[in-house]
Amino acid sequence: MNERETLKINADGHLEIGGADAVKLAEEFGTPLYVFDEKHIRDMMRVYKRAVDVEYGGNGLVLYASKAFSCEAVYAIAKSENIGVDVVSGGELYTAIKAGFPTDKIYMHGNNKLVRELELALANGVGCIVVDSYKEADILDELAAARGVKQRVLIRTNPGVEAHTHEFIQTARTDSKFGFSISDGAAEQITKHVLSKNNLVLRGYHCHIGSQIFEKSSFALAAEKVMDFIALMKEKLGFEVAELNIGGGFGVWYNDDDPKLRLTDYYGYVKTLIAAVKSKAKEHNISKPYLLLEPGRSIIGEAGVTLYTVGAIKDIPGIKKYVAVDGGMFDNPRYALYQSKYTVLLANRANEECTEKVSIAGKCCESGDLIAVNVPLPAANSGDILAVLTTGAYNYSMASNYNRNFIPAAVLVTEGKAEYIIRPQTYEDLVRNDVLPDRLK
Ligand SMILES: *Cc1c(COP(=O)(O)O)cnc(C)c1O
Repeated sequence: MNERETLKINADGHLEIGGADAVKLAEEFGTPLYVFDEKHIRDMMRVYKRAVDVEYGGNGLVLYASKAFSCEAVYAIAKSENIGVDVVSGGELYTAIKAGFPTDKIYMHGNNKLVRELELALANGVGCIVVDSYKEADILDELAAARGVKQRVLIRTNPGVEAHTHEFIQTARTDSKFGFSISDGAAEQITKHVLSKNNLVLRGYHCHIGSQIFEKSSFALAAEKVMDFIALMKEKLGFEVAELNIGGGFGVWYNDDDPKLRLTDYYGYVKTLIAAVKSKAKEHNISKPYLLLEPGRSIIGEAGVTLYTVGAIKDIPGIKKYVAVDGGMFDNPRYALYQSKYTVLLANRANEECTEKVSIAGKCCESGDLIAVNVPLPAANSGDILAVLTTGAYNYSMASNYNRNFIPAAVLVTEGKAEYIIRPQTYEDLVRNDVLPDRLK
């Protein structure tokens, strides 16, 4: 397996992303700019697919969890890699359809899917809908009946394994807006309910235990708990499960508090959880279910870098030095939301030693508009190009037009060449949906 080589420093001392000089990208496309390395994305999709092929005889499907980064190009890449995708809204589904993604390989999630979202899914033959409430099961059954179709569904369960960044806990009952708890009988009750629906075909169960998880055993434990439940449902209800969807959540490197995983490590995660599924199938004497994995962050996270131009620098002696950039919480709200950690560097002076600790501030009118706090950097000057690493997942997809700033463009780099996958916005885009009633003119 070739290792991913997304980031390099070239002979000019500039950061390179997928073989493209970041300083030149900033000149050509402007900043802020999201940059994605296509090879990295494909390598990650392939390692998961290969693990399912080799370790499980190909009896499964990798789904790219597209809420991590959704745009037409990424669905086209997933399609060409022969994997599936999951979507969590009508908008993501529409984007996948527009990109020509085969709808039978789309799984749809959501704790409160709207009727129009379910309609869109049914009208386009979405492969599977992951049911997360009684109401949804009832509505979906009616909508399917009206169309004369039988819709494949899974039930979202809570196996009582909760994972946090570097650790996980087992709980008797999970406090979550998602899913039906296995331990308290809720998952069994909804199973009976869905089985009673004439227009729904219950294929099995889904679980997703969290995100940014590094603990191998947490995935295996979740798989074991759901497999035990599958055996129980066979025994109690005579229900034979065809599919098990184990969710996503594999961690990525953001800064040096995180392990830097290799492709073989990701392969290892899948191998471990597949071993758990196999051994439980044997123990309970049940057939091995068709297996689904839903990695999002780990496919796209480290493939992305955001480039900014340094502007104002404010040194408050003895307190903090703020280095302000031309982006902020409108292109990356993750620090503001949950104090996420990032690694930053000066793309035009990538070889220089870090001599100070600074905080990277955005340009929004909000004190909490920060990208990173107390991170090492060489003494930055106005005009330097600042790169924030590992911004491929949950950055563009969480971006907004706060303060009527532009959501930045995104480029995809392939063998050193970059092209737009998301065009830059214009002022005209910002007022496109505004309405000025005559009486206010
Ligand atoms: C968010 C999510 C994923 C992907 O999680 P990552 O941590 O990005 O891998 C997969 N499945 C479901 C249901 C999700 O909500």
